[in-house]
Amino acid sequence: MDLEQTIRRNIEDVRARIGRACDKVGRDPAGVRLMGVTKRKPVEVVMAACRAGLVDLGENYAQELATKAGQVDEAGLSPRWHFIGALQTNKVRSIAGLVTSIHSVDRPSLVKELAKRVTPERPVDVFVEVGIAGEEQKSGVNPSRAEALCIGVMEAPCLRLAGLMAVPPFGRDPEESRPWFRALRDLRDRLTDTLEPGPGVLDQLSMGMTGDLEVAVEEGATVVRVGTALFGPRD
Ligand SMILES: *Cc1c(COP(=O)(O)O)cnc(C)c1O
Repeated sequence: MDLEQTIRRNIEDVRARIGRACDKVGRDPAGVRLMGVTKRKPVEVVMAACRAGLVDLGENYAQELATKAGQVDEAGLSPRWHFIGALQTNKVRSIAGLVTSIHSVDRPSLVKELAKRVTPERPVDVFVEVGIAGEEQKSGVNPSRAEALCIGVMEAPCLRLAGLMAVPPFGRDPEESRPWFRALRDLRDRLTDTLEPGPGVLDQLSMGMTGDLEVAVEEGATVVRVGTALFGPRD
């Protein structure tokens, strides 16, 4: 089977998993977006993913994203790119014109830099990444500082506060992620009550990966970020 067919079949499998999780809690699968995470996979995989029908692609490294985006564009393919990795302030410039969303905004200096680099022609959806487990997590804003950060994003003209993102601490059992997903949803609900952001703002939850996407969907995920289940293990 060629790459495109394999990915096509994997997409069907993952969509079936999402569908079953939606059935379980009475959600409409149309409310869950599938993002394919292509980090550390060759550009051939990215192109095959596009041809197999994936529209949303996530990358973790600025240079890798810029290189792949150029090659994919030359091939006449146009996925929506999302940045999901740790983002250095000095790399914002290189991705600002390429991405439709950034899922890893976790500090005020990054919001400031984004506000400077993002243009009205290409506005960017921002997900505030929350270190939902608190001090033990190395990435994500501490939950106690999430509100201030969200306000900062809402005040920046070309940024739209799409919602919150989290990567829970690694667990062997997907059920271990459930309390963290629930905590992220509760935080989103509390922020929505206090900030009254209006329709289409702060209504998304980016959570769930290959190992725990069902649990994430059951707990309200609107975007799942899936690599391994679509493209196989990474080196
Ligand atoms: C790598 C990565 C993913 C995808 O992980 P899989 O377990 O391969 O599905 C999702 N989100 C983030 C932030 C990642 O770094």
